[in-house]
Amino acid sequence: MKKITVAIDGFSSCGKSTMAKELAGETGYIYVDTGAMYRAVALYCIGNGWITATEMDAAQIEKQLDDIYITFKTNAEGKTETYLNGENVETAIRTLEVANGASRVSTLGFVRRELVRRQQAMGADKGVVMDGRDIGTVVFPDAELKIFLTASPEVRALRRLKELEAKGENANYDEVLANVKERDDRDQNRAESPLRKAEDAVVIDNSNLTREEQRDLLRTLFNEKTL
Ligand code: C5P
Repeated sequence: MKKITVAIDGFSSCGKSTMAKELAGETGYIYVDTGAMYRAVALYCIGNGWITATEMDAAQIEKQLDDIYITFKTNAEGKTETYLNGENVETAIRTLEVANGASRVSTLGFVRRELVRRQQAMGADKGVVMDGRDIGTVVFPDAELKIFLTASPEVRALRRLKELEAKGENANYDEVLANVKERDDRDQNRAESPLRKAEDAVVIDNSNLTREEQRDLLRTLFNEKTL
């Protein structure tokens, strides 16, 4: 069977990572969560005081970028976890504060260029499912299968709220919806590789799809490209 590159892009909280992880698990492909890489950079910057509620010290971030070493490891349950300079940060990067920091740090051209370079190295041998915002357009413009996943902001805010509540985080619907919309706006309007659908991407709107329907649809598209 032919090995391909699968690029999954779309808005935040669309379920890209669920979809990408499932496909990688079924096919034995490597899964790369590029959002986790931007989140890990943000966590490092927040920890060092270079990103505060109102300010971002781009000069410091640029100077220290090479000190931010990000890896992924599979835990005992087969779940991929993110490591920042050797420390497991999988839980720490999933807060609203870090999501917001990631959205801001991802507007910096030098951060994007460096993370894109690392992502291209991770997927150099194909057999990879990568999810993010610019995978089909910038990281792997030649990917054999490109998906652009979308859902209404309200549906996404509800899903995100449930996730946060399940983790015991305090959040309310209006706050989460505002955060979803703010991130959409920043993702679509930043100067450096804004979020847009690649011309040859297949659009999937999963507002009204069950997880199984979505999985079957993706598997059919994958099989068409590889069998
Ligand atoms: O996908 P996730 O919500 O974890 O991504 C966190 C943030 O990182 C997003 O809000 C987005 O701004 C940024 N990002 C990006 N390019 C990617 C992946 C994520 O700009 N390839």
